[in-house]
Amino acid sequence: MDEKEKNRILRRFIELIPNPECPMCHGHHFTVIDSYPVNAVTEDFRKLSPVIRRSIPTVAVVCVKCGFISQHAMAVMGLINNPNDNVNDKKESEK
Ligand SMILES: [Zn+2]
Repeated sequence: MDEKEKNRILRRFIELIPNPECPMCHGHHFTVIDSYPVNAVTEDFRKLSPVIRRSIPTVAVVCVKCGFISQHAMAVMGLINNPNDNVNDKKESEK
C-alpha cells in the first residue's frame, strides 16, 4: 500500500480509538504496516490446506515502542464497503 492509504488507515484508527494505548508497554505511538495481513481460517483444523480459501481483510497497527501488533478488520473499521470485496471465499463447487 502507498503512504496515502497508510495515512487513511491510521486516521481512521485514531478516529475509532482517540487515545490508543499499547496493551504491552502502555506506549501511545503507532504506525500501520505497509501490507495487508492475511489470516487463513478453516472450519475444520484437521483439513488445513496450503491454499488459503477464506480470508478476512485486515490491517495491522504496530506500537513503535515495543512492536506489539494489533490486527483490525477493515469492514468493521469502515475502510471497505463490502467485506467480500477482498475475500477469496469460493465454494467447493466453484473450485
Ligand atoms: Zn508497545
